Amino acid sequence: MFLDPLIGLFSNDLAIDLGTANTLIYTKNGGIVLNEPSMVAVKTRDQRGTKVLAVGKEAKEMLGRTPKDIAVIRPMADGVIADFDSTEIMLKYFIRKVHKRRALVRPRIIISVPSGVTPVEKRAVREAAESAGAREVFLIEEPMAAAIGTDLPITEPTSNVVVDIGAGTTEVAVISMAGTVYSRSVRVGGDKMDESILQYLKRKYNLLIGLQTAEVIKIKIGKALKTEETETLEVKGRDLVSGIPKLLTIDSEEVRKAISEQVGTIVQTVRIALEQIPPELSGDVVDNGIFLTGGGALLRDLDVLLREETRLPITITDDPLITVVIGAGKALSNLSLYREIMAQ
Ligand code: ADP
Ligand code: MG
Repeated sequence: MFLDPLIGLFSNDLAIDLGTANTLIYTKNGGIVLNEPSMVAVKTRDQRGTKVLAVGKEAKEMLGRTPKDIAVIRPMADGVIADFDSTEIMLKYFIRKVHKRRALVRPRIIISVPSGVTPVEKRAVREAAESAGAREVFLIEEPMAAAIGTDLPITEPTSNVVVDIGAGTTEVAVISMAGTVYSRSVRVGGDKMDESILQYLKRKYNLLIGLQTAEVIKIKIGKALKTEETETLEVKGRDLVSGIPKLLTIDSEEVRKAISEQVGTIVQTVRIALEQIPPELSGDVVDNGIFLTGGGALLRDLDVLLREETRLPITITDDPLITVVIGAGKALSNLSLYREIMAQ
């Protein structure tokens, strides 16, 4: 039959990773066809509500550079849907951008959602995809998608431990026999690190920087572990005393200290998860280890720190920023195998 799911992903079917920081869309033929910031720029108009000015990359370029009546919002702040309307607008915009309505058959769409989202939020995501033209919508929890994207043996009776460090949340999940044995989500991730770097520079040097600059500092010289050699970076900001723009040099050790609280929370979250795993599976973790994914997994030496703290094998997935969307795509192209694991 033409629409039989067994024949797999149609060329126009879409897998979407709706992340706090980035939204990615994957198609079987095109691979990753969209990778844009999860952002929407809106203009407030008197009495007439708001008007959307830009979505995705274009919205991010406006961040911190807008006049008072324009705001750049992140509809998925903290890993949950903070703003239903803008989530729907964003999702529709991205789907239409890649889908272009050229296909005769409407796409089937699989969307990954954080494991902690509520039924109401799931319905909102589903409805947004439907109103953007989906023929059928499937939801998959992010850690499950990450595990599939990493080719872990999720259907086997063994431990598959995934730690997804995104912008808004860190999620730890233990999967066995295609089910989630344990999952925990904390609202700490890359964003809070950026915020800490910003606060540090303000406190220590009276230097005001934007969150985007803080993120650049983290990515360039941030690290999780104290090391012999330190690196430096020149940072531009505004002097809070004189009000004049100024240039400052900071080093990687300062950044490490600034983000140590968040790094500590991530380590602690992993520890708590390990304590909660049933003993047989716990034994398996010794061999299988822990898989790190999400952009935060790229923080330098975070894997080394976790290895030191847990004495377990720690593996960073191949390309942590795309693991979830790849896994979601795999699940959609093999529905007969994965239908059971879809979130309801
Ligand atoms: P989400 O799923 O929440 O959208 P992502 O998995 O896309 O998040 O990861 C985005 C987060 O990863 C951001 O906070 C970003 O700053 C951070 N990040 C990306 N690359 C690096 C890096 N090399 N070092 C540290 N953090 C990084
Ligand atoms: Mg993510």
